[in-house]
Amino acid sequence: MSNKIITKIIVGTNNQGKLKEIKDLLPKEIIVFSPNDFKFKSPKEDGKTFEENSLIKAKFFSQKAKMICLADDSGLEIDILNNDPGIYSARWGGKNSDFKKAIKKVFHKLDQKDPKWKKKKIKAQFVCALTIYWNHKKNITVTGKIKGFISPKPKGRNGFGYDPIFIPIGYKKTFSQMKPIKKYKIDHRFKAFKKIKKFF
Ligand code: IMP
Repeated sequence: MSNKIITKIIVGTNNQGKLKEIKDLLPKEIIVFSPNDFKFKSPKEDGKTFEENSLIKAKFFSQKAKMICLADDSGLEIDILNNDPGIYSARWGGKNSDFKKAIKKVFHKLDQKDPKWKKKKIKAQFVCALTIYWNHKKNITVTGKIKGFISPKPKGRNGFGYDPIFIPIGYKKTFSQMKPIKKYKIDHRFKAFKKIKKFF
């Protein structure tokens, strides 16, 4: 596996929340491109796991941009929903990735499963798979997870996605109530990134 220092990279996501977070994790000297810079659309994510989907994206954008790609596939798994929305986390927001809609769907599914869920501790975890794709012979995929609970109502204004309803274990605040710099240092993406930091 190459551990040559990377000077420029395409980050394989058009999700602005993720892009911002990944940019903040990377050393400042690295020139970061995103698919938007080249007007690339996203590939079909037809993998069955976070790992498979992050590899699909990393390979696709690396080959299109002719550049090393770092791609992320992530999502929220809720225990009593049989780990849904899982790899469908983005898709629960519909075509326009409307996170309010996705959160509404989570609450609706929880209401259906257990009408008293708001009085209970609903276990969940965020999962992030990161892939660095150099070429078909050289790529690496790692995973990071953070466990927590679902907040009975959305709280906070920071972040993106399901941040307003996720309370990490050991904290009283949702990810959205935390300062981004604090969230970035404890979350699933950071834990995965620690495993590949040496390549940057
Ligand atoms: P994808 O990996 O682009 O398919 O989408 C992942 C989806 O999972 C995002 O659109 C969010 O809804 C959700 N997600 C992943 N990571 C986070 C996070 O750190 N905070 C909140 N939501 C997240």
